[in-house]
Amino acid sequence: MKGRYPMARIESEIDMYQAALQLEKTWYVERREFNPETGRIDLYLNFDRKGLFTCVTCGTDGLPFHDLVMKRHTWRHLDFWEHYSYLHMPLPRVRC
Ligand SMILES: [Zn+2]
Repeated sequence: MKGRYPMARIESEIDMYQAALQLEKTWYVERREFNPETGRIDLYLNFDRKGLFTCVTCGTDGLPFHDLVMKRHTWRHLDFWEHYSYLHMPLPRVRC
């Protein structure tokens, strides 16, 4: 997740998250939720199923999507502003 968004146009809050996360074109922020009572931001990422991926085992680039390892993986991200921030995203797998 780096590199292809150096001068992103920021036209919406979603664009801002997209740029801050330095998402490649294959990946995008699908939606975000903010709970003002808990101060928590949840960002839901998704990816283009026709996108190309890198094999995490050997590093081969340009591989098509095969299936999902997990439908949704969640982890804590660095805070956006002072808000607890969590990312949720499917984990794709390639056949390599
Ligand atoms: Zn491989």
